Amino acid sequence: MAKVIFKELVSNQIVLFPENISDRIPENHPVRLVNHIVDQLDITNIINKYVGGGTSSYHPRMMLKVLFYSYLSNVYSCRKIEKALQENIYFMWLSGKSVPDFRTINNFRGQRLKGEIQNLFAEIVKLLQISGYVSLEVQYIDGTKIESASNKYTFVWRGSVEKNKVKLETKIASILKDIDSQIKEDSKEQNKEEIRKSIDTEELKSKLSELNKKLKTKDKSTQKQLQELQQNLLPRLEKYENQLEIMGNRNSFSKTDPDATFMRTKEDHMMNGQLKACYNPQISTENQYITHYSIHQTPGDTTTLVGHLESFESYYGYQSNVVVADAGYGSEENYEYLEEKGIEAYVKYNYFHLEQKKKIKNNAFLVQNLYYNSDEDYYVCPMGQHLIRVGHGTRTSDNGYKSEVTYYQAARCIGCPLRGMCHKAEGVRLISVNHRLKELKAKARDCLMSSKGLFHRSKRPIEPEAVFGQLKSNNKFNRFTLRGLEKVNIEFGLMAIAHNLRKLSA
Ligand code: SF4
Repeated sequence: MAKVIFKELVSNQIVLFPENISDRIPENHPVRLVNHIVDQLDITNIINKYVGGGTSSYHPRMMLKVLFYSYLSNVYSCRKIEKALQENIYFMWLSGKSVPDFRTINNFRGQRLKGEIQNLFAEIVKLLQISGYVSLEVQYIDGTKIESASNKYTFVWRGSVEKNKVKLETKIASILKDIDSQIKEDSKEQNKEEIRKSIDTEELKSKLSELNKKLKTKDKSTQKQLQELQQNLLPRLEKYENQLEIMGNRNSFSKTDPDATFMRTKEDHMMNGQLKACYNPQISTENQYITHYSIHQTPGDTTTLVGHLESFESYYGYQSNVVVADAGYGSEENYEYLEEKGIEAYVKYNYFHLEQKKKIKNNAFLVQNLYYNSDEDYYVCPMGQHLIRVGHGTRTSDNGYKSEVTYYQAARCIGCPLRGMCHKAEGVRLISVNHRLKELKAKARDCLMSSKGLFHRSKRPIEPEAVFGQLKSNNKFNRFTLRGLEKVNIEFGLMAIAHNLRKLSA
């Protein structure tokens, strides 16, 4: 049997000259890129947040390097970052062997970076622009839903709050009416009045203090009623008002992260559609670098585009020439905004693909296929009957945008042999047309079908969608670890910076 030879056991040996850990970091390691990039950032605003006094603080530049590198390495927990600072030579090299504890890291991330992260992100993107990686002339835009850190079963729905509030107000109004009847001793007349009345907490409080003054000698039942109003109904009314204020324009929020909204996310591995408390981050990408991001609280993408583009302009001082987005963004408001700003838009609308199909193109009964006489403002149905203008209306979007709709009606449909194929409604056919949207859609269709449109359409699926795939699937960033809109913005900003640095170092 051959002799077994072990390598020398060198652990726990004393070395004469201490080793320089920099020698063990490869020249092209991402940690060197993080170090180089952060050294170029202007962090004056963050430094100005330190008030001074007390013990010395860890340098914000070092903290930024550590945070950027930890997000680049898929380490999102402050305790794990602290552990890495003690064990991982790349972290040690970045921090100069300083080991801030997890509370310090958490405080830096959640407090010092408030309102600063998006500036740092934009600075890094500008560095990418200078180096020619992105031009900022084109934005491929898309959104995704990322679960909040809140618990699952903590929903508050607008519908149930409003319903309970109405019930409570009715009860309060009824008790107040009882008490009033006792005071005025004209209950018969009072009882004829409408019982339900909307009341707010301020009104109820002043009413209660007024009643307390009036009813100095209260009988037992009045005493009980006043107690009920004071101790039970008033706090409940306050709670409902509070909840509606938190909700704002939304339909729901989570009790443990009030900024998060319940949204339907894509199916889980069991193919169940899930309603979860989420945020809706929107990103612009170019060459698979994230060039801009914004966090929204509404589930739909349609209402996010204007805000997203405006914030892009505020960070970079100008707007891209080209915007490419999917059908989720194709609304009248968005098309109008893009036209007004002179942006070349390649934005699909609902049914863009469907309307290219023969079945739809050849369906003579569809509104878009009816002949329209623009001079005399009427439509002609397949039987040759004129659908004349009978009125117009206004539709308001969730954003408050008002669209004008015109209604056209046929004079007589009874006995028409094509009635079964034409419409299902009772009586004559009535159609509604948004002429402005029709015009904007025609313009969008021309752009999308042009050679440039085909190029951008083919590129869109490998731009933002590939980036979301990288973030959510490869980097396992499926849930925020921080709560509240501001902190979620910080966390997503760190993810976006890490993504760009990871791609740059690849
Ligand atoms: S049902 Fe009325 S609108 Fe439709 S094809 Fe017949 S006449 Fe025209």
